[in-house]
Amino acid sequence: MSEIQPTERTKIRRRPERGVFDRAAVYAIIDEALVAHVGVSVNDEPRVIPTAIIRVGDHVYIHGSQSNQLLSTLAGGAPACITITLVDSIVAGRSGFGMSMDYRSVVIFAKAEVVEDMAEKERLVAAFIEDILPGHVVRPPKAKELNATVFLRFPIEEASAKIRDKGVVDPADDIALDLWAGVIPLRMTAGAPRNCKDLRPGIETPDYAKTYARPRG
Ligand SMILES: Cc1cc2nc3c(=O)[nH]c(=O)nc-3n(C[C@H](O)[C@H](O)[C@H](O)COP(=O)(O)OP(=O)(O)OC[C@H]3O[C@@H](n4cnc5c(N)ncnc54)[C@H](O)[C@@H]3O)c2cc1C
Repeated sequence: MSEIQPTERTKIRRRPERGVFDRAAVYAIIDEALVAHVGVSVNDEPRVIPTAIIRVGDHVYIHGSQSNQLLSTLAGGAPACITITLVDSIVAGRSGFGMSMDYRSVVIFAKAEVVEDMAEKERLVAAFIEDILPGHVVRPPKAKELNATVFLRFPIEEASAKIRDKGVVDPADDIALDLWAGVIPLRMTAGAPRNCKDLRPGIETPDYAKTYARPRG
């Protein structure tokens, strides 16, 4: 898989050694995330809005209602800055400035393309389900639901990833202190699924709900 070429905008300035432009590594971060924060300028004011995101091939997709301000602004051609953040550990150094986090994050600059084709929209509905809850069985989408939903596609061309996996990096004089330091790994865990109150009798909780895990194993 190719390298993403850094641009003036995506060149990592602080800690450039933490920059990652390997496409496979960037995609792995995007694929693990459920949520992205999408930044856009609305009437010359910044908006950064969280939303579900999936990747299909070399594009990421977001979707939502036609009345969604973020989506309509982006559909009108406004440039987006999409960020994805996975926090892997709390890093407890021996000073306030030695405190940190290990993380994997991605920044994508792109303009949206509106998905108009109904068959592609239908495939995207399936792709969102497969990404968020693999194996979940649903009824097919209705035409009016597809018509009322905006799907936006962004190319992953101008993008950067940054990975911190260093743990504690304290200076020598702090290491000499009698203070605890270390990392506390963080992980997303699924609780036990709760059946919907209006579930029809006789429907069992499926295994894919009981064994849900993210990142997908
Ligand atoms: C969970 C988390 C916590 C963080 N906490 C802090 C903190 O407390 N203090 C701090 O200074 N920094 C923190 N960072 C790092 C922060 O995201 C920036 O990398 C940092 O502010 C350096 O910015 P800069 O001025 O060098 O680059 P900028 O000029 O801001 O960025 C230049 C380009 O580098 C790329 N880039 C920059 N940062 C990232 C990133 N994180 N992921 C992917 N691409 C990136 C983008 O393409 C961007 O356009 C944190 C990051 C994460 C993910």
